[in-house]
Amino acid sequence: MKPFISRTRPFARTALTGALLLSLTAVTACTATGAQESGSSTTESSSTSSSTSSSATSSRNAAEPRDVTANDFPVNITESTHPAANPPAEGELRVTLLGTGSPIPSTERFGFSVLVQAGENNYVVDAGRGAIVRLIQAGVEAGQVDGLFLTHFHSDHVLSIDDLWMTGYVPAFGGREGAFDVYGPEGVTNIVDNLREAFQNDVDVRVADGELERDTTGIEAHEFTEDGVIFDEDGLKVTMFDVQHDPADVIQPAKGYRIDYEGKSVVISGDTIPNENVATYGKDADILIHEVAAFQDRNVLPQVISHHTTPDQAGEIFAQAQPKLAVYSHFVNGIPGKVEGISDEEMIARTKENYDGEVVLGQDLMSFLITDEDIEVTDQAGLAELAAE
Ligand SMILES: [Zn+2]
Ligand SMILES: [Zn+2]
Repeated sequence: MKPFISRTRPFARTALTGALLLSLTAVTACTATGAQESGSSTTESSSTSSSTSSSATSSRNAAEPRDVTANDFPVNITESTHPAANPPAEGELRVTLLGTGSPIPSTERFGFSVLVQAGENNYVVDAGRGAIVRLIQAGVEAGQVDGLFLTHFHSDHVLSIDDLWMTGYVPAFGGREGAFDVYGPEGVTNIVDNLREAFQNDVDVRVADGELERDTTGIEAHEFTEDGVIFDEDGLKVTMFDVQHDPADVIQPAKGYRIDYEGKSVVISGDTIPNENVATYGKDADILIHEVAAFQDRNVLPQVISHHTTPDQAGEIFAQAQPKLAVYSHFVNGIPGKVEGISDEEMIARTKENYDGEVVLGQDLMSFLITDEDIEVTDQAGLAELAAE
C-alpha cells in the first residue's frame, strides 16, 4: 500500500481562517448537484452542466482543484490512497461518507451509507446501493466491517446488506471471522433471517467447494425495541433514537444514531422530517450529518418534500444543535428528467436562512477525522490530490 500523505484541511469552529473558508467554498462549489447530474437525457445533461458551471464560476478561483468524484478512486484495496485505508490514531474518530445519495440511481451519489472508524474497528451505518464499492475504494475490505447499524428499512438503506455480508465472508475480500452483526430497530431479525434463507445456496456451494468454512458465513441480528444505548464496545457507544420519516408517522421504524468515542461524537439523522430528537441528540456533537431534500420550486412534489427535511428546516435543526460541523448527506436534489434541483450555492443559502455556521455538502468518499483539537476535512481538494496519486 502506498504511504498516505495527509492533505486534509483542519477545521476549527472558533478559528476559521481565510484558507479554510476558501477550502470550504471549494467544497460547496465543486459538489455535484447529484440528482441533476444523473439526468438521463443529453439535453438535460447539457443544460444542467451549463447552469452548474455558471453558478460555480462566481466562487471559483485559481486555487480551486479540478473536478473529481469518488469514481476517480480505483476499486482496488491495495491501491487505495484514501485516508480511511489506515486506522485512525488512538482516541481519534474517522467518519467517511460512502454514499450520499437517495433511491435515485446515480453514478456520482451511491446509496446512503457511512463508515465510522474507531481504533482498529470499522462500523457502517446503513447499506445503500454500492456501499461495498465505496468501501473498497476507501481501502477497507468487506470482511473488515465489524458491525452494521440500520436506521430504517427503505430500499436505499438496505440494498447492500447482503453484499456486505456475503462478499465479506469470501476469503479474497477480507474473509470475515465469525458472524456479520447487524444492529437496529424492530424488523432487523426478520430481514436477517430471510437473507440467510434466500442466499443459503451461496454458503452451501462455497463450503462444498472447499472455498470457506461454514462458521465464517453467519449473519446475526441484534434487534432493539427501545431507544437508548444499543452498543457499547471498545470505547465506542451507539445510541439509537426515534425520528419521524413522514407526517402520519406510518414509516416505522425510523431511527437516527449518535455515536460517541473518546469524547468525540457523530450524529446521523436518518431519513426524517424536521425532528426535535435530532437537535437533542445532536447537541454539541462534533459532526451532525443530516439528510436534505430540495427542489428549485419549493412547492413542487409536496408528497416527497413532506417526507424529508428542506435546507431551511435543516438550518433550524443545526441552529438548535450547534454541532461543530454540519454536514449534508442523503441528497434528494431534484428528480432527474422531471423536477429541477438547486445549485450548491442555493442549498447553502437556503440553509443559512436559519443557520449561520458552516455547512458542508457531503460527497461520496468525503472524510472527516475528529481529533482532540479539531475536525480535519478531506474535502474536494484533498480527494482530487489523493485520487491523482
Ligand atoms: Zn433514504
Ligand atoms: Zn427512507
